[in-house]
Amino acid sequence: MNKNIRVRFAPSPTGPLHIGGVRTALYNYLFARQLGGTLILRIEDTDQTRFYPGAEDYIVESLTWCGIKFDEGVHIGGPHAPYRQSERKHLYKQYADLLVEKGHAYYAFDTAEELDAIRDKMKAAGNHAWQYNHITRVNMKNSLSLPSDDVKNRIDSGEPYVIRLKVPRNEEVKLNDLIRGVVVVNTNHIDDKVLYKSDGMPTYHLANVVDDYLMQISHVIRGEEWLPSAPLHVLLYKYLGWEDIMPSFAHLPLILKPDGNGKLSKRDGDRLGFPVFPLEWKDPFTGEISSGYRESGWFAEAVVNLIALLGWHPANNQEIFSMQDLIESFSLERVSKAGAKFDVDKARWFNQYYLRQQSTDTLSQLIYPKFKAEGIEPDMQHLSKVIEVIMERAIYIGDLYNESLYFFIRPEHYDTQAIAKKWKPENANIILEIADMFASLIDFTSESLEERTKQWLMEKGIGIGAIMPVIRILLTGSMAGPAVFEIAALLGKEESINRLKTGLPEIEKQLNGKN
Ligand code: GLU
Repeated sequence: MNKNIRVRFAPSPTGPLHIGGVRTALYNYLFARQLGGTLILRIEDTDQTRFYPGAEDYIVESLTWCGIKFDEGVHIGGPHAPYRQSERKHLYKQYADLLVEKGHAYYAFDTAEELDAIRDKMKAAGNHAWQYNHITRVNMKNSLSLPSDDVKNRIDSGEPYVIRLKVPRNEEVKLNDLIRGVVVVNTNHIDDKVLYKSDGMPTYHLANVVDDYLMQISHVIRGEEWLPSAPLHVLLYKYLGWEDIMPSFAHLPLILKPDGNGKLSKRDGDRLGFPVFPLEWKDPFTGEISSGYRESGWFAEAVVNLIALLGWHPANNQEIFSMQDLIESFSLERVSKAGAKFDVDKARWFNQYYLRQQSTDTLSQLIYPKFKAEGIEPDMQHLSKVIEVIMERAIYIGDLYNESLYFFIRPEHYDTQAIAKKWKPENANIILEIADMFASLIDFTSESLEERTKQWLMEKGIGIGAIMPVIRILLTGSMAGPAVFEIAALLGKEESINRLKTGLPEIEKQLNGKN
């Protein structure tokens, strides 16, 4: 155990966890495991207006599903409990006060309405980015601009106030990001962020820095969207006197839309037919359902493998990584600065790969509940055999059901379009004769079926190409599927004969009508 390496995943429960968030958690996990460090799950819920019921449970369940394990956290406790910021409320005020005391923060009494009015006025005058900062604060209602007895009176009388960081004018803030290198930002571009709100809650910035300090975080590994906040955090570490123990920063690249045009959003997933959330999510307010990888038939191993490679590149061309492989190979040095495009085909390829790694028994067990829910109760051994012949065609777990359904229920529809062109009315008799020939077979294995049928067709001078598609359609309803003889063998003699005979009038009706 390396006591010095402590990292955290610190999501806000403002909705379902995006796969970008899962990747952040994963990289933190890999980093901690490789170095024998500690991984913490901290819930940053100080913004009560954005709180979503169920989101925290969703986060925990998603990460558990992915196999990302924590050493301390909201769901398991630990030496720094509580790990939910709303329950740590009492801890933050003293640090905001300390900053005021040191002259690095100040009280501001401007109401939300007053701030809105200024913003509107500035907008009307063409300034769309008005900020509360080193220039404007002198004209606002705060402890820097008001006489000190006025400030004292306001506070004593219980007037609501916020505490803002006093960002200095024209100073360079430097930070050495492990992925981006040295990042320098001039303080003229940073506004006097609110650290402590009038509702008695810290803002994200204060709580985040204070908790990273209290929880002895060594590395902050988080998404690129937090890079603009990092200089502000550096200022906070400095002003709180924690500069020497400031964590190292690593800001991860964005996960981009497949065409590289912007951040991957929920809507892209819907549009392109893949989930952007690990688990299905039902919005508690609107009831809207967003699809999840788990419910859409993905393997957690595939999701982990594919997101690990969205931003990190191994030294060799290896693509398949188990969690253990990732723990051994991962390094922040090989995380790129550039955004990573989500490649839908590649993602599917990963799932197909992991599906093919499963035993037919495992796959049968995974899909059995779906059959049961549809009122079909296949024999497990038989189901395993069916899975063996169709699994190559499956990408998602659900495909195993769709691809094997016709083994358990007779086709209701026949996709005769594919055979319409070559159909001849005399085919009907040939099919009946084949059914009789099937009846005479003792050995109904696919090998023997193939041999006997081909021989029979040859003797009769009938082309294989003309009749096999008809048999396929009669047995399965469509042109897709594994080899016809394999299907027939699995259906068994009686059922195969039955399907040939009972389906024939229906396809004749469809085909003769067309010719
Ligand atoms: N609460 C922030 C979020 O929701 C965490 C950012 C950080 O890791 O510092 O992503």
